[in-house]
Amino acid sequence: MNPIAANIKDIQERIANACRTSGRPLDKVRLIAVSKVKPAALIEEAYAAGQRLFGENYVQEFRDKQEQVTAPVEWHFIGALQSNKVKYLKDSVHMIHSVDRLSLAQEINRQWGKTPAVVDILLQVNIGDEESKAGCTPEQLEELARQVAQLPHVKIRGLMCLPPYCDDPEEVRPYFKQLRQLAEKIAGLDIPGVTMEELSMGMSGDFEVAVEEGATLVRVGTAIFGERRK
Ligand SMILES: *Cc1c(COP(=O)(O)O)cnc(C)c1O
Repeated sequence: MNPIAANIKDIQERIANACRTSGRPLDKVRLIAVSKVKPAALIEEAYAAGQRLFGENYVQEFRDKQEQVTAPVEWHFIGALQSNKVKYLKDSVHMIHSVDRLSLAQEINRQWGKTPAVVDILLQVNIGDEESKAGCTPEQLEELARQVAQLPHVKIRGLMCLPPYCDDPEEVRPYFKQLRQLAEKIAGLDIPGVTMEELSMGMSGDFEVAVEEGATLVRVGTAIFGERRK
């Protein structure tokens, strides 16, 4: 087995274990292979090993690789997104995880409305209140959800977070819990068209804890493809 296939198998087993220990159904957790900075050939390798969902962070790099990858992968855009680049994602991404402001959602709505089509999005929450990180604040979330819900070409499917980095994954657990509680709160508002079935959280160092706390999409890069050098 090549290293990428072995890594994916190992991660899937660890996800399954985390599901077992927390009593969650395995089919509610999907692995996104974060392929930023990695070449298209490695994406094809992961696809051959059974991996279907891939996450990209940079619009230009994504466009280049998307042209090179011939396998029918499901692309997720997970990186910081400038409104003027949204048009390049149209028709090629399955879900945008990083919607954190109304102006960005409006531009997505405008671009997807040209066909017309609807795109699934997640609202990104800056759960650790970090200056350096994107995301709306927990306090802004309800109003943002209500505003974005009114855009006909954008469908809110859940929340995403990028919590503060900690060496010990147990230290990240409270942030994952907080994101789940925010999703429960938003779900309880019954905003028309808004569902909270997806929680995009957990990375190489902490995806098992994220699964235990309710993640439905885990975004794993390094543990699949190795360290990134740029
Ligand atoms: C890079 C990245 C990941 C993957 O991080 P790893 O630690 O390499 O698993 C997940 N989510 C986002 C938003 C990222 O930018």
